[in-house]
Amino acid sequence: MGIDRKYKELAKFTQKIKTTYIKGIKPDQFVKTLERLKVNVVVDIRYWSLYPTYFSPKFMKDLLEIHGIEYLKCKALGNPSALRKRAGENFELAKQLYQNYAKNDPESRQELVKLYKLFRFRKNYCLICYCPTLDIKLCHRFWLKELLINLKRNNLGFSEKINLENFNKRLVPEVAS
Ligand SMILES: [Zn+2]
Repeated sequence: MGIDRKYKELAKFTQKIKTTYIKGIKPDQFVKTLERLKVNVVVDIRYWSLYPTYFSPKFMKDLLEIHGIEYLKCKALGNPSALRKRAGENFELAKQLYQNYAKNDPESRQELVKLYKLFRFRKNYCLICYCPTLDIKLCHRFWLKELLINLKRNNLGFSEKINLENFNKRLVPEVAS
């Protein structure tokens, strides 16, 4: 594959990974955001079970179905509280712990590979979690996105890894409520 094709493939891959958060968001706002981002599949990477009833996996699946959006639950790609506690306020470490966990924990790895393979389809995916932040340094949906992009880069033969924090902002669309 020529270098131009590779860049194109990488851009396509990157652009289909959207992200948003749902804390403090109402279901109709959530759906509007997804429609604006042209999302076909929601990938739920919440770890814990603290959320309003209307955002329980069952309700969310039903809500999305009405709007023709698929729902995919990837609990093993949530950020375990043990890791969060270990990292405390050190978010550089938190990211490192999370990315290692996603790559090495058997269950997480399985879900990571599944996602990676899914992303070859012509659909837009949206990673959602309950971290109440738009800050790329603080939340695992960005860390997962970065990990997936780096897997793709690696498979395409790019040697350098990217860090979303320093990455072209155009390629990391994020949504304010
Ligand atoms: Zn998060």
